[in-house]
Amino acid sequence: MALHQVRPRILGFISEDVSAWLVASLVLLVGMLMTGLLTWAMLNLFNQQLRQRFELQAEERFSRIEERFQEQEQRLDGLRRFFANSEGVSNSEFRGYAGALLRRTRALAWAPRVRRDERQAFEQQVQAEGSANFIIREADGSGGLRQAGVRDEYVPLLHVQSQASYGSPLGLDLLSDPLRRATLERARQLGGLAVSQPLDLVGVDPAYTRGVLLVAPVTREPSIEPFGYVAAAISMRQLAGDGLPAVGHDNLAMRVLDLSTSDREEVLFESPTPAGHSELAATRLLRLADHHYRVELRPSRMFLATNHSSVSSLVVLGGLLSVLLSALLYVLVSQRQRALKLVEQRTRELRAREQELRGTHGQLRGVLDAATQVAIIATDLRGVITTFNAGAEQMLGYQSCEVLQSMTLESLHVPRELQARAAQLGARFGKPIPTCHAMLLEGGEQGGQQAREWTLVRRDGSHLTVNMLATPMLDDQGLWIGHLAICIDITERKRVHEALAARDLLLKKLSAHVPGGIYQIKMDFNGRFSVIYASDGIRDIYELEPEVLVRNAEAIFSRIHCLDAARVRSSIRASADTLSPWREEYRLQLPQRGLRWVRGEATPEELPGGGVLWHGYISDISDLKRVEEELRALSVTDALTGIRNRRYFQERLTSEMARIERGPGDLAVIMLDIDHFKRINDQHGHAVGDRVLQAVCQRVIQRLRRTDVFCRLGGEEFVVLCPDTDSDSAYSLALGLWANLRATPIEGVGTITASFGIASWRAGEGADALLLRADSGVYAAKQAGRDRVETQLG
Ligand code: GH3
Ligand code: MG
Ligand code: MG
Repeated sequence: MALHQVRPRILGFISEDVSAWLVASLVLLVGMLMTGLLTWAMLNLFNQQLRQRFELQAEERFSRIEERFQEQEQRLDGLRRFFANSEGVSNSEFRGYAGALLRRTRALAWAPRVRRDERQAFEQQVQAEGSANFIIREADGSGGLRQAGVRDEYVPLLHVQSQASYGSPLGLDLLSDPLRRATLERARQLGGLAVSQPLDLVGVDPAYTRGVLLVAPVTREPSIEPFGYVAAAISMRQLAGDGLPAVGHDNLAMRVLDLSTSDREEVLFESPTPAGHSELAATRLLRLADHHYRVELRPSRMFLATNHSSVSSLVVLGGLLSVLLSALLYVLVSQRQRALKLVEQRTRELRAREQELRGTHGQLRGVLDAATQVAIIATDLRGVITTFNAGAEQMLGYQSCEVLQSMTLESLHVPRELQARAAQLGARFGKPIPTCHAMLLEGGEQGGQQAREWTLVRRDGSHLTVNMLATPMLDDQGLWIGHLAICIDITERKRVHEALAARDLLLKKLSAHVPGGIYQIKMDFNGRFSVIYASDGIRDIYELEPEVLVRNAEAIFSRIHCLDAARVRSSIRASADTLSPWREEYRLQLPQRGLRWVRGEATPEELPGGGVLWHGYISDISDLKRVEEELRALSVTDALTGIRNRRYFQERLTSEMARIERGPGDLAVIMLDIDHFKRINDQHGHAVGDRVLQAVCQRVIQRLRRTDVFCRLGGEEFVVLCPDTDSDSAYSLALGLWANLRATPIEGVGTITASFGIASWRAGEGADALLLRADSGVYAAKQAGRDRVETQLG
C-alpha cells in the first residue's frame, strides 16, 4: 500500500498502471495528428508560394508577349508613316527601311491600290522599273500563283522584305483572298491597324506558314481613302516563341489562341515545353491591332520539379518522430513498470526470506535446545563461547549464563591433551601452534573435517570423553567469524567398544584353539552371499584370507571341487528355503594342499529383510575320510587273499544288474571251486592251504581283464564278475583261467585244479538265478570229474 502511495507518475502525468501499449498508441496518435496539421499548414503555405511564384513568372511572360505585340504595331505604323510621308518609294528604299524593322516579323510588304483601268499601266511601270515578270497575281488554289482575274480594284504586293530565303510573292493581289480582303476592308474602315484571321502566309518558310497578316492603310492628306497598304506577315510561333528558354528549361507552358472565329479557337502557338500536372493556370487577352488573342500559361514540369514541396519529407519525418517517441515512451513505461514489478517481487521475496529466516532461526534455537545428547558450543574468533546449548549444560554441568562471553573452549579441555595435540600439529606444520587452536585445527588427516576424541572437564572437575567435531563458521562473504564445536559423549560408547573388543579377542582366542573355522555368512534376498565373520581357522581351511572372504564371499565357491560345487549350492539353497540346519561334506581343491575333504555345518536364521544368516563351523575331515575309505576297503576285501569278498561281490552284482536292466549290454559270471582242497589241508596243513588259496588268486588275477571283478565267495570258492561280456567271451576267459591254473603248479604242493561254472545273464533273470546257474555249472564240473569248465545254459 505504501508503495502505491509514493509512486510517482511517469513523466509527471502518466499513471503507472496504464498499459505501455496505450501510452505508446496515444503518443503515436497525437504525433500523427500534429504531423497532419503541420503538413496541412505547410501545404497551404507551399501552394500559396507556388502560386505567387507562378503568377510572377506568368505576369512577366504576359508583359513580354504584350510588348512584342505592341512592337509589331509600332513598326508597322512606322512603315505606314514612311509611305505616307514619301513620294514614290523605290524598292531599294523600301528594303533599306523595312530591313531594319524586320524583327520577329516574317515579312513586311507594301501593296498600293490599283484600279482596273490602271492595271496595265501599273504592271508596265513596275516592269519598266526592273521587275520584268511583274504582273498582278492571285492564288490558283493549289499553292501556286496565277495572273489575277479582272476586278475593279487590286492591292498587289509591290515591295516585300522577307526573312524567307526564296522568292517573295510579288504581285499577289491581297484582295483576291476573302480573308485578306476582309482585313484590308476593316483597316480601311478603322483607318488604322487591322489584323487578319489566322491564315496560311504566302512566301514564308513552311515552318512559319500559319500566321496572321497585320495591315495598315496608308493615306495621304487630305484624302481619307488609302492609296495603299503596308502589311506585316506575323507568325505567332516566331513572335511568341522567340527567345523562350530551351525545351525542358522553361518554367511555363504557353499557348496563344486566336478568338476571331466564334465557332472554334485556333491554337496559333504552343510552346514545346509540356505542362505539368497542376491546377495553376493563368489566362490573359492580349490585343494586337483590332484583335484579341488569348494567352494561356501553365506551370511546366520543370517548374513543378524545381518547386516541389517538402511536405512528404515532413510527413515522413513527423511520422518517424511520432513512432520514435511512442517507441521511446513504450520502452520507458514498460521498463519502468517492469522495474516496479521487479521491486515488488523482490520485496515480497525478501519478506518471505525474512519470514523463512525467522522460522529457521526459531527452528535452530529449538534444535539447539532439543539436542540434549549433543553439546553444541560456538565461539568467536578469540575462542570465547557465544553459544552453549542445553546438551552442553547437561554434559558439562555449567549453566549457559555462567559460560557465555566469559569462558573459552580451551578452558573446558584438559591442558595436557591440548599441549600434546599442539606439539603434534606444530611438528606437522613446522610452526608453533597455540593450545587455544589445537582443538580447532585440522591435522591434515585423511577425510578433512573429522571428529576427534577429547577429554573435557566438567564443572565438578570430573572428566568426560567426547567426540568433538570443530568447524570454522563463515559469514555470507566467506569471512571467518568463529568456530562451532559439536561434542558427543562417548564414555558409554567407549565402554561398550572396549567390552566388544574384549569379546572379539576372546572369540579370536577360542576359535584359534578350535580345529576348523567358525563363520557367519549371509545370503541377501537376491541370493548374493556375504561373509559377516570368518575366524582365522577359515583361512587354513580354504587357503583364503578372512578379509578376502569378507570382501568376496564367492571366493569360497571357487575353492570347492567342481564335482561338489553344485551339490553344496543346492544344499545351502535348501537350508535357506526350509530354514533347516545345513550339513555337508565336500571336497576342496586348494592351491597348496591339493584335494581336501571338509565338513560344514550351519544353523540358518531368517533375517528381517528377507535374507538368511548362517552361523556355522567348518572342519577338515580329510583324515577321517581316509580312515573311512580304509575301513570301507577292509570291509569288502578278503583278508587272506586280498581280493574282494562276497559282500563286495553282492554289491557289484546288484549295481551291474541294475545297469544292464536299464540299457543294452551283457553280463557273465564265472564261478570256480578248487578241487579236493580238503586233501591239501589234510596233507600239508592249514597254513599251506592258505598259501595255495593266495597262489590260486594270483594266477587267476594274471589272466583277468581290468573290468573283471574277482571275489572270494568263501572257503575255496571264487567268482569272477564280467561286465559287458557275452557267454562266448566268458567261456574263453574261463578256459584261459582253467588252463593257466593247471599249467602252473604251486611250489611244494603241485598242480592245483579247479572246476569252473559259467552263466551269462538272460533278460528278466534275477541275480540269484544267475548265480544258481553258475553254481550248477561248478557242480556239473565236479560231477563230471572236476578240473574242467562247464557252461550252464540253464
Ligand atoms: P571237492 O573237490 O568236492 O570240492 O572237494 P573239497 O575237498 O575241495 O571240498 P570240501 O567242501 O569238502 O572241502 C573244503 C575244505 O576247505 C574244507 C575246509 O576245511 C577247507 N577250508 C575252508 N576254508 C579254508 C581256509 O581258509 N583255509 C584252509 N587252509 N582251508 C580251508
Ligand atoms: Mg567247496
Ligand atoms: Mg572244493
